[in-house]
This record gives sequence, structure tokens and C-alpha cells, in this order.
Amino acid sequence: MPAKTDMAYTAYETDMPINQGKAEKIKAMLPLWQVGMKRTMCILSHTLLTEGKLPRWTDTKEWDDRLSQRQWNSVTRQAKGMMDSWMGLRQNDFKRIVSHSKLDTETRHRLYKINKRRAWWEPVDDEDHKLARRIIKHLRKRIPFPDPARCRTMVMDGKIAEIQPSHMGGVYYYWARVSTLEKNKPLYAPLAIHSNLEQHLNPDDPENLCNQLQVRVNEDGTLTTHLMTARPKAAPRETGSILGLDWGMKSLFATSDGRLYGLSLFAWLKARDNELTNLTRELGHARIPYKRSRRYRNLNRRIREHVTNEVNRVLNLIADQQVRELVVEDLDFRHGGLSKPLNRIVTRAGRHAVRMKLDRLNQIRGVTIIRINPAYTSQECPRCGYTSPKNRPDQAHFHCQCCGHTNNADIVAANNIKARRSRPEYWRWIGKQNILDRLRKEHAQRCPDRIHCPDHAERSTALPRQRNSQGRLTRGYKKVA
Ligand SMILES: [Zn+2]
Repeated sequence: MPAKTDMAYTAYETDMPINQGKAEKIKAMLPLWQVGMKRTMCILSHTLLTEGKLPRWTDTKEWDDRLSQRQWNSVTRQAKGMMDSWMGLRQNDFKRIVSHSKLDTETRHRLYKINKRRAWWEPVDDEDHKLARRIIKHLRKRIPFPDPARCRTMVMDGKIAEIQPSHMGGVYYYWARVSTLEKNKPLYAPLAIHSNLEQHLNPDDPENLCNQLQVRVNEDGTLTTHLMTARPKAAPRETGSILGLDWGMKSLFATSDGRLYGLSLFAWLKARDNELTNLTRELGHARIPYKRSRRYRNLNRRIREHVTNEVNRVLNLIADQQVRELVVEDLDFRHGGLSKPLNRIVTRAGRHAVRMKLDRLNQIRGVTIIRINPAYTSQECPRCGYTSPKNRPDQAHFHCQCCGHTNNADIVAANNIKARRSRPEYWRWIGKQNILDRLRKEHAQRCPDRIHCPDHAERSTALPRQRNSQGRLTRGYKKVA
């Protein structure tokens, strides 16, 4: 995999119209490819666990000679790429765990240092390393090392799948010269490039085609092909506004300046929810596993694609305006009103789409993305800071019980998200209760009499619980002077 950090990479689906014979030759490589990836992954994980770091290279000289050494290089590189991204994700998890922990500052600091080098398994026997190993062991239990045996995509680099522009001036702009299992007999596959990639292929465009072909062998035997491009990352925008963004189901996005986007999505999802419920019931009666049903898979895909398209469309609209910085919450979609299975599909698809799209906006359009801790952003009053679930009489409305401020609940959340931007960095990592305590304390200073804060008044003036004449536990209240 390409991995220069100053470049932005994009994959474009590309048609590869080849005959059955050629397709079979490409498909014949997959089983060997998977075995090789699995083998590489074994070597990588073994070295990692015993020596504490990944090996610099993998020796493939003795491997099955049906694939050439160049092909094995592609295989090992792909497996290493999978391991790298696994380690990158665990690095974030590790950081989160340590920062949420009750460890003292110095220990935390030393753990961060180990984590930064990804040296969790470094064979050192001090307390810090022991602790680091315990944390990473816990993480690995939750999310094991990637299993490449199930990976159906072959990432072939230029040495074994060279991408060449067409000299014939025919319909196809490019050919891929692909090495297969037949030695010295590469096959030539035409690549029909879609317009979304074609627009980047003129020499003036900053985006350039990488010499790499990704072929996925689908379960039904068809092939899906992707070409990759690389371009330098955009410089950060220096002018424009700063927007807080709240995402949810009712309105897909609300902005801190009071706009609501993607309002029709929820109705569309509601309709799909009925379809999905009926279909799963039917399949349940017929005792057909969901995954085996083509209708179920198609519906699933339709929902995912629709959510992804909506996310991309709306975020493009937002980025088209003069925006310099987007402030977003770290975690989730707020949900409600959908069945559990659909909720799961939408949450996953939505989260993934948002993350991908925000990365793109950052890399290609130079929009800075700030992530904040979203705890209580839906319950906090942006005017007086009073935080309570009672500020949300329902899903759609916000009504502050302290100062009486009212607004659309999503817009309030977007405002609070924007405001969190100016909190110190460690706010991102502290727990929910901690944040609530801080918000309450701040509000108490701004609103000293607190008479109009029902829940503050209750808490602060409550007497210890005592038994009344019927023997029940009750709370006594002091008279507020
Ligand atoms: Zn208020």
C-alpha cells in the first residue's frame, strides 16, 4: 500500500471488461494470495509478539513458486498494510484507555511514550511495559489481529500489474498488464475509466494515477476493480467561518448557524424500516439465514449507499460555503425511532461515511476538522450553561429550565459542539461525569441564586434522608431564604 503521509489517496471503481478465460486466470491467484497473506500475518504477529516490532521484510524465497517473488512482494506488502492500520487504530484505543484511567500523570506519560512507538510488546520487563502489555492484550481480545484469509481483494502493485495508457486511441484509455500464474505470459486487460476518475487524468490536474490495480473477487465470482490516485494534500483554508456540526437521524446535519440539512432522510429510512421488518419476518418463517438472502443483501446495500450518498451530498454543500473549520463530535449518530437492525445498519454506514468524507474534506479541500467530546452537548444550554435532561422535553425541542432559552434541539447541540472547541484539549478524553461536574460548577458561578434551577435547588438544599411517620424514607428540604 502507498503510505506517504503528505499525499491523499483515492480509490476509483473502474470497469475491466475481460472475457471469461482472462477472468479465470485472475481468479486462480486468489487462493494462493490468501494463503500468502495468512502466512505473512502469522510471521508479522509472531515477530511483533516476541520481538516487539514488525520485521523489516518477509522472506518468501521458499514459498509456493506458482507465484513469482514479485507477486509475493505484493502479497506481503498488502498484509503489512492491514497490520499497520490495525496498529494505528489500537494506538488510538490505547490512548483513550490510558487517558480515562485513574493512573497518575507520570505513569500515563510513560505509557503514552510506549504507545507512540507502538512498542507495546517490547521485551522490557518494567512495570510500564507490563501495564502496556495488559492494555494491548485487552484490546486484542476485543479486536483480534486482522484475518487476511477472508480478504478477497488483491492489491497488485506496478511490478505485477502495470497500468499503461492506451496507444491505440481506442475506447479504452488504459490497459493493465497483469502477471498471473502463467510465467512470462502476462495478460492485458482493458480498463474503462469512469468520468469521475477521467476528469483527474489530464496532466494539469494535481491528482495522479498510481501504478497499482486492486481486484476484488466477489462471492458470486464477478470481479470488481479499483484504480488509485494520489495528490498532495491541500493547504489548510485560512479564511471562512467556523461551524459546529451535529449529526443525527431526524435532520442528518444541523449547523451552529442554524441550518438543518438532510431532513428527508428519516422518512426514507422509515419506509425502508418497514421493508426490512417484513423481509426479516418472512425469512424467519422460511428459516433462511439473512446473509443467504439476495433480497436482504440488496436492501442492506441500498440503505448503506443511500446514507453514504446523503452524507457526501450534504457535507459537500456545507464545504462549498466559506468554511474554514468544522467542529464535530467524536463519536456517534444520535438515534431514535428506528428498529434495532436498521439502526445498526444506519449507524455503522453513517459513521463510516462521515469519517471518510470529513477526511476527504480535510485532505482535498483544506477544511480543518476539530473533534470534541460530545458528552452533554444535547442537554447544555448555550446561553446560561444550565445542563439537565429536563432541558429536552422531547427529541426535537430544547427548552432551558433555568433561563427559558428555546430552540431546535439539533441546532442547540451544534452550537454546544462549536463551543467545546475552545475547551482545553484534555476535555476530549475525560469521562462524562467529570464533564457534567464541570458544567454544573460553571453554571453555579454564573447563576448564583439558583432558585429557578429545580434540580440544583433540590440537590444543594436537600437534607439527609430520614424516615417519616409511616417509616418511609423521605427527603427533607430546607427553606430557601
Ligand atoms: Zn439557559
